Amino acid sequence: MNNRITSLFGIKYPIIQAGMIWCSGWRLAAAVSNAGGLGIIGAGSMYPEVLKEHIRKCRVATDRPFAVNVPLLYPNIEEIMQILVEEQVEIVFTSAGNPATWTSFLKEKGITVVHVIANKKFAVKAQNAGVDAIVAEGFEAGGHNGREETTTLCLIPMIADAVNIPVIAAGGIAGGKAMLAAFALGAEAVQVGSAFAVAEESSAHLSFKEKIIHAVEGDTKLRMKKLVPVRLLQNDFAETIAQAEAAGANADELGKLLGRARAKKGMFEGDMQEGELEIGQVSAMLREIKPAAAILEQIWQEFINEKKRISGLEI
Ligand code: NDP
Ligand code: NDP
Repeated sequence: MNNRITSLFGIKYPIIQAGMIWCSGWRLAAAVSNAGGLGIIGAGSMYPEVLKEHIRKCRVATDRPFAVNVPLLYPNIEEIMQILVEEQVEIVFTSAGNPATWTSFLKEKGITVVHVIANKKFAVKAQNAGVDAIVAEGFEAGGHNGREETTTLCLIPMIADAVNIPVIAAGGIAGGKAMLAAFALGAEAVQVGSAFAVAEESSAHLSFKEKIIHAVEGDTKLRMKKLVPVRLLQNDFAETIAQAEAAGANADELGKLLGRARAKKGMFEGDMQEGELEIGQVSAMLREIKPAAAILEQIWQEFINEKKRISGLEI
């Protein structure tokens, strides 16, 4: 396919693997890029030296384009930005922060910049900051989420109307049917997280992957809206948070319950009860752990088949 996104990144398929803490290291990013999509290393869980190592290993593992996702809340952000420049990373996805802070720095170095947003206000702000494209991520998405709770179905057409740079749809997309719907809404690519979190090459703990493929409808909920809204799988930790929220806990109290490194504990170390398990609603449709290339191929084939089916509809 040829469109503004495939030519912006130099990729074959408009399918992007989301930057996901503790899941998307170099192995997953390289596997997705090798399969013709855009793989992303999630820097949020990486100390600067670890990120450097992952960028270098990714470059050895693929000669195709790949990107790095940097949550702008990251503590050593200056150091991370310096590494991206030194290691000649060509594409950076920024998220969870103000795009005005780093976009011009990265653009001056010739880096393609994409910013992740969940509402119209931030989409316009990102465009004004000079980003090349936007990821619009709806309510269905796992991990960090928007406060407005706008679903992907409502968000994508709203954002596509509000900006003239290309829009990448995210949140609830794990198959070709959802991808086709996103294109109908005005997106020019999709970003897929949860489906790749369970890929063989994902660095997530096997227990987390197994819990995801056994998840059913209603197993993920948006929690901690007073702190940082995140979509989580049900477990003892999520239940503790739910009870505190029902009792009216404020941001400080939620922060104390969350503590530090909960996501690592659950997603990387495999503590399925006390860890923070970030995954999207679409987990209820994921049923196997398989290679990233097979996941991408299945999305693309379903997209083509569904497009043919829709074109054949009698009106
Ligand atoms: P890598 O080359 O992938 O990792 C090198 C370094 O990066 C290590 O310091 C590792 O941490 C860290 N790291 C790896 N992925 C991430 C990430 N997404 N976010 C932050 N840091 C990361 O080495 P390995 O091939 O040995 O894999 C790294 C880890 O991933 C191992 O602990 C391995 O057991 C686990 N893994 C689990 C899989 C599973 O299905 N359960 C599949 C693949 C890997 P550290 O030093 O803590 O390992
Ligand atoms: P916490 O503050 O609870 O813990 C920090 C975690 O990040 C620890 O596990 C730590 O590893 C690791 N880490 C990696 N680099 C650094 C560093 N330079 N300084 C301190 N810790 C570091 O944060 P979270 O685990 O909740 O989130 C980590 C990051 O991921 C944040 O930047 C957050 O904004 C982002 N994030 C992004 C999400 C998304 O959807 N894209 C979802 C959730 C978080 P160790 O335990 O080995 O010290």
